[in-house]
Amino acid sequence: MEALRIVCPECNSVNTVKIKGQGEVIPCAQCKTDLDDPFPLEATDETCTTHIVENEIPILVDFYSTTCGPCMAMYDDYEDAALGFGLKVKFLKVNADVYQKVAGKYGVGALPTIIAFNKGEEISRVSRQLSQSELVLWAQSLI
Ligand SMILES: [Zn+2]
Repeated sequence: MEALRIVCPECNSVNTVKIKGQGEVIPCAQCKTDLDDPFPLEATDETCTTHIVENEIPILVDFYSTTCGPCMAMYDDYEDAALGFGLKVKFLKVNADVYQKVAGKYGVGALPTIIAFNKGEEISRVSRQLSQSELVLWAQSLI
């Protein structure tokens, strides 16, 4: 079984874990938080890059603003899409108004912009509101 590096959603320490099945509780070695937390993680300038670079699972990052209508309209769909993936694909969210540094680093202009990464490399990006099924299909294509 392949061991993968997974960044803790709580303390951002890097764990090396063997993933047996979905829904399994995998406690962080540092803080004991369950690493298999399927909810989208609100990331910051600091934590976003750590997750993109250190995680050995595909990552989706939704750059949004609370004043952007399409971003907020996608909020629930993004969360619902994330719940099906667990540690297969990690869903992140970045408030681009607050964390302008990381938004600038990845060249985010229009909002929402969703970017897919695998092992630190950008795979693809979309700059429009996506439906839940579009998000699920995209995430599945990354596995
Ligand atoms: Zn932790």
